[in-house]
Amino acid sequence: MGTTHQYEVVIVGAGPAGMCAALYTGRSMLRTVVLERGMPGGELLNTEKLDDWIGEQSILGWELAKKFEDHARLFGAEFVTANVTTVSRLDDGTFATVTDTGDVYRSPAVIVTAGGTPIKLGIPGEQEFAGKGVSYCAICDGAFFRNQTIAVVGGGDAAVEEADFLTRYAAKVYVVHRRDSFRASKILQERLFANPKIEVVWNSVAEEVLGDEQGLMKGLVIRNVETNATSTLDATGCFIFIGFRPNTGIIDEHFDHDPMGYIVTDAMMQTSIPGLFAAGDLRSQLTRQVTTAVGDATTAAIAVEKFLKARSEGTEIDPRGSGGYAV
Ligand code: NAP
Repeated sequence: MGTTHQYEVVIVGAGPAGMCAALYTGRSMLRTVVLERGMPGGELLNTEKLDDWIGEQSILGWELAKKFEDHARLFGAEFVTANVTTVSRLDDGTFATVTDTGDVYRSPAVIVTAGGTPIKLGIPGEQEFAGKGVSYCAICDGAFFRNQTIAVVGGGDAAVEEADFLTRYAAKVYVVHRRDSFRASKILQERLFANPKIEVVWNSVAEEVLGDEQGLMKGLVIRNVETNATSTLDATGCFIFIGFRPNTGIIDEHFDHDPMGYIVTDAMMQTSIPGLFAAGDLRSQLTRQVTTAVGDATTAAIAVEKFLKARSEGTEIDPRGSGGYAV
């Protein structure tokens, strides 16, 4: 039997967006809890180094994550390790955020910053060899592939950046991409093309992960989509970076979303459900960067403060931001 807790703001997820939102709501003296199933940091923990966090020419992902957490705690935000299963709106308009241990976090406002989950290829062997060669996290697993030959699947920022990172361990990295050009940003592509350990396999898709008698990955079957010819890469690792699916399944009520399932918000980061705000990678937007996540989160946190004030006064939040509250 779980326990019921009462907060003014519940934040689901402790990535950059969640921690930044917590900093601002804590700083606004709102009683805030951040619920996170893993270590605080989110995608920062899957990022080796950042060179686009303004003010730091280079900073390690985990290091920035720790700074975010310490800063949010400084303003009073509480962090709880908890796996959220549902966020439901109750009849009185407040929310119940429920965890898999049955704990209930009641609050008049929730900011969902739960990020996304790596998309799977869905090919034979992918699941069987997950953790035995197949990985979705270069920083977590890269060091296991010292002096080995590995494959990276995908052509976006994640695949191109992580392929480059993985060459610090691997002897050779094949990048298998289904088209003849990358969608990754130019600067990341330039780094990849300049790396002699990387070979790009264009117009090809992964078809099957092969294993040996010990149950470890030993090869990746690929197919050229133009010639239909199949071949096998002698790779003992396969890192799959073909995008993320937003973690929106916890929201227990219909909300507006785009065709890809990302949450649509207004300019205040409020979803179509009053009192439910969203920030970061699960929000529908042009790009998903740490800087945009914390920008979203700042807006969401300040909007929550205004939302709660308007609610206590029986008025409505004024979408023009500063100024009064319209009735
Ligand atoms: P993404 O940009 O959606 O790219 C996914 C890649 O996987 C695309 O190249 C896509 O091919 C390929 N793909 C998708 N489904 C596939 C399938 N079934 N089989 C084979 N290939 C498949 O995803 P992402 O790279 O994970 O990036 C997600 C977001 O995070 C982006 O907004 C990105 O800018 C951001 N991000 C930024 C950085 C950075 O700036 N350092 C690092 C990581 C991520 P097509 O190109 O043919 O569609």
